[in-house]
Amino acid sequence: MQFNSPWLQFNRQSWPNLKEDIECDVAIIGAGISGVSTLYFLLHHTDKKIVLLEKNHVASGATGHNAGFACAVMETSIQQLINQYGLEKTKRTYYELDRGWELLLEIYNKLDMQEDFVRINHTNPAYTSVDNLVYAVTQEMLQDQIGRRRGSFLIVDDEKIKEKIPDELRKYIQFVPQEKILKTLKTQDKAYIAVLVTMETAKTARINSAKFCYKVLLYLQKKFPERFFVYENTEITQIDIESSCAVLHHARGTIKTHDVILCTNAYKDFLISDKEQKCSVLKLHESLMIREGYLAAYTGDNSDAYGAAFFDHRGMYESSPYFYVIHTPPSVNEKAGLTILGGPEYYISEDCSADLIQQHAQESFEVGKRFLKNTFNISKDSFDYFWRGIMGYTKSGLRWVGQDPEYPHLWYNLGCNGVGILPAISGGEKIAQLMNGETLLSSLFDPPESIQCHE
Ligand SMILES: Cc1cc2nc3c(=O)[nH]c(=O)nc-3n(C[C@H](O)[C@H](O)[C@H](O)COP(=O)(O)OP(=O)(O)OC[C@H]3O[C@@H](n4cnc5c(N)ncnc54)[C@H](O)[C@@H]3O)c2cc1C
Repeated sequence: MQFNSPWLQFNRQSWPNLKEDIECDVAIIGAGISGVSTLYFLLHHTDKKIVLLEKNHVASGATGHNAGFACAVMETSIQQLINQYGLEKTKRTYYELDRGWELLLEIYNKLDMQEDFVRINHTNPAYTSVDNLVYAVTQEMLQDQIGRRRGSFLIVDDEKIKEKIPDELRKYIQFVPQEKILKTLKTQDKAYIAVLVTMETAKTARINSAKFCYKVLLYLQKKFPERFFVYENTEITQIDIESSCAVLHHARGTIKTHDVILCTNAYKDFLISDKEQKCSVLKLHESLMIREGYLAAYTGDNSDAYGAAFFDHRGMYESSPYFYVIHTPPSVNEKAGLTILGGPEYYISEDCSADLIQQHAQESFEVGKRFLKNTFNISKDSFDYFWRGIMGYTKSGLRWVGQDPEYPHLWYNLGCNGVGILPAISGGEKIAQLMNGETLLSSLFDPPESIQCHE
């Protein structure tokens, strides 16, 4: 199957590859939204000379292959976060996501890119099972406790369902006829018994994060022409951590840098070595798990902006415990509305074969068509766009943002990456603040202490 992402359908600038040995203050590896945002804030907050290194082309990773939904959501449940880290730290982590939203708006306004920003005021998670529903309402109650209530649940007015809902959750619920729920979801599938209706003020939008990267780089080239260089088709194969610097290796030479920042998402086909101890640094490689996600999209529906996630416990869509749909009417530069359908995901290994990818693609394609038919009675033989992207997840399920506790020349802005647009941006600002010598409160995103060092 052929892949084509809707986010890369524009005239893209290209940058040269690196052909020689160079020196700089900071080297950023990876030119997706994490790397480009980190560059943006470092240029604004410090006077460092920086290079941005990309093994393919700008936004060729997840940034050019996502669902484009900017939202302040953590993938780990709020209950898990509060149990493990307490209320205050959890609250602060959400603040970091909100900061990503503020910064996104600031950059869109500053660069006059509003035409690529489509607000989606309502996003509706929907449920077929009472157990999943009770869990979701409980999460809403906890969200409320940290001042982040998202909305109210509409639940089918049915005695059997009512009796399973604990009293303390009633405040978040309205019981309604099922038709209202189905209408909200625009579905015909009567298995759905509940939907969360979010508030108008939800911080959610559809953006093209690939275009964002190109526009930000063009802006930075005008504003800071002497302070940074971008090199595409420059793959870093090895990072040597020395006592006073890091040395990066690529096919045609080396880069000597004071600091290196990994914005490499799930990619880990490079070595990190501790030159003093003469050993490999494996923390990142051992922590990161790779997940691939498949998305499909079609054009032509010009109805209002709409977002929903369908949690279906019936097991009808093998690789997808849930599907999400993001629909936007045409923005200024588009001729037709775009409806994006996502869901199928698989854990894969680094050396995942092309055959396995084709098999996953075929399964995802079929399951997506089935979901559309069952949910919206839409029949499709093909999609206008069909694409895949990869995400990196750390073992803790949390992003790493900042300096390595053991190797001060090594920094990260990566990990836990399925909803990664906003944390990539706020992570970039945070790294610039830290490199500028500012002291920040500790965060759940601080890179972990222990380093496993193997001979
Ligand atoms: C299917 C899917 C759907 C998603 N949907 C959403 C969504 O709706 N909302 C949301 O917020 N997030 C979403 N995400 C996540 C979001 O896209 C990512 O979190 C974000 O784009 C990650 O950006 P990044 O810059 O960290 O990684 P990437 O964009 O992957 O960039 C990493 C870059 O590093 C480069 N690189 C790696 N190794 C090297 C090396 N050795 N040398 C040089 N360059 C290297 C790669 O080529 C790549 O370009 C989705 C992701 C996927 C895959």
